[in-house]
Amino acid sequence: MHTPGLTLQDFILPSPKFLPNATPQSLASFPLAQKHPKLGMRPGWTSRSNKSLLRVNRKPVWSGCSHSIRMQCSHNGQKDGDIYMRRCVELARKAIGFTSPNPMVGCVIVKDGEVVGEGFHPKAGQPHAEVFALRDAGDLAENATAYVSLEPCNHFGRTPPCTEALIRAKVKKVVVGMVDPNTIVASKGVQRLRDAGIEVVMGVEEELCKKLLETYTHRMLTGKPFLALRYSLSVNGHFLDVLGATAADCGGYYSRLLQEYDAVVLSCSLFNESLPLPSSKEPGTNQPMRIIIQKNSSSSNQAPFVINEVTGKDVIFTDNSTTAATEMAQQGIETVAVDQVNLDVILDYCYGQGFCSVLLDMRGSFSEFEGLVKEGIQKKYFNKFVTEILPIWNGSVKMDPLKPLTSLEQGVKVINLQSKSLDQSVVIEGYFKFE
Ligand SMILES: [Zn+2]
Repeated sequence: MHTPGLTLQDFILPSPKFLPNATPQSLASFPLAQKHPKLGMRPGWTSRSNKSLLRVNRKPVWSGCSHSIRMQCSHNGQKDGDIYMRRCVELARKAIGFTSPNPMVGCVIVKDGEVVGEGFHPKAGQPHAEVFALRDAGDLAENATAYVSLEPCNHFGRTPPCTEALIRAKVKKVVVGMVDPNTIVASKGVQRLRDAGIEVVMGVEEELCKKLLETYTHRMLTGKPFLALRYSLSVNGHFLDVLGATAADCGGYYSRLLQEYDAVVLSCSLFNESLPLPSSKEPGTNQPMRIIIQKNSSSSNQAPFVINEVTGKDVIFTDNSTTAATEMAQQGIETVAVDQVNLDVILDYCYGQGFCSVLLDMRGSFSEFEGLVKEGIQKKYFNKFVTEILPIWNGSVKMDPLKPLTSLEQGVKVINLQSKSLDQSVVIEGYFKFE
């Protein structure tokens, strides 16, 4: 959901160079690495993921110095609460790609105009953001204000309720970004805090917090992961089977998409070519599961394919159980054989894995995707598209996978269109609105 043009980072705080009065305390942002060096690992995680998770802590990316904040407020008229909430979002995003099926959440504790504690939820099964922030603040949390991007939970899950932690810490006020769409939590956390005599303010930087959690919210409300469609176009509007020159590099929009999404759906034909396999180049990424589509009906993909770089997170969906299952089992790769490879089975599988988001990456054999794209529109599964327009005039068009869509009767609108110019391409993204 965040290409370089659209990332939440564009909305949050400036870099420290704009905050000249940073103090040592302002640079001490998060205690996780020091206090919790042995995070448990989810089955299937690599040790690389875990180490990199630890690395993200105490990065001096922002000054929590009250001096600097007040200076900033007086200069551009922003409220303190907005700034602290944006910091919460920034903290939450440190765990991008790690938290599903839980939400990314950040928390800041402020007392007498000073940031005295910060925290974020690092991954499912670990304590929530409020707990880390309260630990960071220690006794200073008493009579302080807690800013948290999502309503504190009020139920016993894998961890105790955060409402009780806030009450025990004797915070005076809690500022909440958005209500939790989880019906187990929704507004009950706020009510619990108010019943305990704590002042609660709702909806600060609400749109930013909602955008941060758009995939979590979609999963919670619909029972299906958020689904995005990515493809490349020539300037004359035809499909291309390539990415822009720097798209897959660290910092490139494609690399960041893979960091953000829990799973990426790919054509098996990509694996027949000597192309680098899709993986995010962002430091410390928890790589998405690669869901590889092999359809028997796709005449061009009858040949077995080989995955040279097995990540432990590859799954093949095929309607050709006899060949694919055998071939892949020999490589130790999970194969899901179904009568028909469609979005229903893929999304249900991903939901079962606890995923909040899935990216359908249209490269390789377009014939693998034609039915999926049609289904995604007809069943209103697509939430978003990310389109890269490359500086290519494509004169030899073989097949246009979206052509069948022009005959669909269903109306599709696009909203919240945004664009970003890159070195040699333009990325456009928007949201589908079905009629
Ligand atoms: Zn909680």
